[in-house]
Amino acid sequence: MSAHPKYPLLFEPLDLGFTTVKNRVLMGSMHTGLENDDDAERQAAYFAERAKGGVGMIITGGTAPNADSTVGDDTHEVFNSADRLPWHKTVTDAVYAAAPDCKICLQILHAGRYAMTPNQVAPSPVKSYINPFTPREMNAEDIERTLQDFVNCAQLAKEAGYSGVEIIGSAGYLLSSFLLEKTNKRTDEWGGSYENRMRFALEVIRRVREAVGEDFILIYRIAAMEMMEDGSSWEEVVTLAKRIEAAGASIISTHFVWHEAQVPTISTRVPRAAFTRVTGKLRKELNIPLITSNRINMPDVAESVLEAGHADIVSMGRPMLADPELVNKANDGREDEINTCIGCNQACLDHAFNGKEVSCLVNPRACNETNLNYLPATQTKKIAVVGAGPAGLAFAVTAAERGHQVTLFEADGDIGGHFNLAKVIPGKEEFYETLRYYRKQLDLHKVELKLNHRVSAEELSGADWDEVVIATGITPRIPAIDGIEHSKVVSYTDAILGNKPIGHKVAIVGAGGIGFDVAELISHKGKSASLDIDVFAREWGIDFENHPRGGVAGVVPRVEKSDREIYLLQRKATAVGKGLGRTTGWTHKLSLQRKDVKMLNGVQYERIDDEGLHTTIHGEPKTLDVDTVIICAGQESDNVLYNRLKDSVSNLHLIGGAELAMEIDAKRAIDQGCRLAAAL
Ligand code: FAD
Ligand code: NAP
Ligand code: SF4
Repeated sequence: MSAHPKYPLLFEPLDLGFTTVKNRVLMGSMHTGLENDDDAERQAAYFAERAKGGVGMIITGGTAPNADSTVGDDTHEVFNSADRLPWHKTVTDAVYAAAPDCKICLQILHAGRYAMTPNQVAPSPVKSYINPFTPREMNAEDIERTLQDFVNCAQLAKEAGYSGVEIIGSAGYLLSSFLLEKTNKRTDEWGGSYENRMRFALEVIRRVREAVGEDFILIYRIAAMEMMEDGSSWEEVVTLAKRIEAAGASIISTHFVWHEAQVPTISTRVPRAAFTRVTGKLRKELNIPLITSNRINMPDVAESVLEAGHADIVSMGRPMLADPELVNKANDGREDEINTCIGCNQACLDHAFNGKEVSCLVNPRACNETNLNYLPATQTKKIAVVGAGPAGLAFAVTAAERGHQVTLFEADGDIGGHFNLAKVIPGKEEFYETLRYYRKQLDLHKVELKLNHRVSAEELSGADWDEVVIATGITPRIPAIDGIEHSKVVSYTDAILGNKPIGHKVAIVGAGGIGFDVAELISHKGKSASLDIDVFAREWGIDFENHPRGGVAGVVPRVEKSDREIYLLQRKATAVGKGLGRTTGWTHKLSLQRKDVKMLNGVQYERIDDEGLHTTIHGEPKTLDVDTVIICAGQESDNVLYNRLKDSVSNLHLIGGAELAMEIDAKRAIDQGCRLAAAL
């Protein structure tokens, strides 16, 4: 077979001796919540769609080998008896029916001290700050029982038709907690020297291999960097990897974090393929294939990782939520049709960590394959959409894909609405990809796009539209503060677009997502860390060259300080930043703290005048002698057009921020647009 002209390495099969993986793209393990459904059909449809989309190998979300070890509180996650075989068989059958040459492996995850159960066990009773429970120290009997549970789960996986198993030995879960002195204080043969601390992981691999035989894929996920001061040394990582190889693993997958680390490793502020060089270094020490991961979201990024010799297989987890067809699109040269994962975590990881079902901000069908479908319309309708922000765009392309005849009106000279402000923020460059995707989809599905066209009520009510969709979005709220008309007051729109000068002493009124983004923008100097791996490493204190313990021990994060004095203010008494995304909020906050942005809560705004912003903070009067006040005080719905039409136009719909401004984000806007389009 001749090599793929554009992605020769990505589409090169990988021969494992007893079997072949058809290409180098792996869908990495993600907990979605579908594991907890009694009915396996949703999980089956979700994976089958990705298999059909061309991925070479799939790893399921983590499955617990026993009841001590679940990350959530649902017993469905446990796979320790034949009772669960039919459920898993439904999944594997669906995958092989969709693509007989696709592999699917079950991830076996013993959460150890991260388990959400008071019965959690660990090598030593060392509590994690991210878990409410203190683990019970495993006795000899627990250790033997747990080893057998791993073997049992792997055997059941084989019986259920999986192509293999991945055993997670990273992230702070049980196996990795045996490896570090910080979490393993034992004095028996399972603790003390590194030889002893490796014993549990090695024994799991050895026994599983012995039980499943040679013709079954066995992947071990290793912590190549924990991003913690007391993590593993490079010598320990290499020693463990070599011993895991000798114990019978077919593939090693590299992981770069423990969940309690203080370095972002997957959010949008992390540069693409930031960590693959670590995998490349380890690859030189081993003979078996290596998987690398983290922020590899487009085929050209994946190909360049392989070309650099950094890995044999590239894991793309969230990009498969965003676009199940990513691999096929790359194969066909349709890269501009890829719905790119923007690393926002808003509908995937934030949901998972909040115990909610996972989906995807840019693709609400993710994990909803059985209940949200864009079927061909039975009757073609003529539809007007007003507003090409995320809500209007999502509606327009989905309705047109279904066969409707759609005209999209936008007052601005370009599509995107508020996304055009988001994309300018350092660290949010991926947002350009979403707009590129929509631009292509509008074209593909022949949506008639009318830019620079502000629609009036008269224009719409006179024409014969079958449906009219109002997606006019939001307008910034102007708070009732004395002196709000003062020349030093600037809207967030003008601040972001650079329409007005910003002084050296700045107060930001409102500390929601936009307040934080504006603070990031105006405190920023130099190159965006999300576009440069070395800048990112410097800002977050990672040493890729010398690889100290955990990758970070003794490295001081160095951030370029801003020349500006910035206050980020809110009225609530709660901690500033509390409402931000669960998995990303702390990174926004830490980044601004390192740039000396002052975050104040309990602020009452009194007035703005030549002296600055007069406030009362926790009852104490205080004047901030700022020369600029940027208003980021939320938004209000722009529903004027809707209100003028609602009595005269039938089949009128209101979506996105125009419908409800409170907490409107692109996740809700896109979801609403897609769901309405599926229904008309
Ligand atoms: P809008 O984006 O406001 O779009 C409405 C569109 O309608 C506009 O283009 C407008 O010009 C057009 N329009 C209005 N009236 C008419 C008319 N009469 N005729 C024709 N066209 C008209 N959300 C997230 O989920 N994650 C983030 O990380 C994130 N970051 C952000 C960062 C910044 C700096 C900003 C400003 C916003 C951010 N958001 C983020 C919020 C997100 O952009 C909005 O929630 C989303 O854009 C709302 O979508 P919408 O389509 O309802 O409205
Ligand atoms: P927001 O999150 O609702 O924050 C608005 C801020 O303004 C709050 O700090 C609020 O806090 C303050 N405020 C509200 N009314 C005020 C008033 N009358 N006077 C003074 N202050 C007032 O809204 P946003 O920051 O504009 O963001 C809009 C949406 O975009 C949000 O849903 C957000 O999730 C989304 N977004 C997300 C991200 C992300 O990274 N995920 C980034 C940007 C935006 P107090 O009331 O305590 O003062
Ligand atoms: Fe990627 Fe955001 Fe979708 Fe998660 S929600 S898969 S991070 S685009």
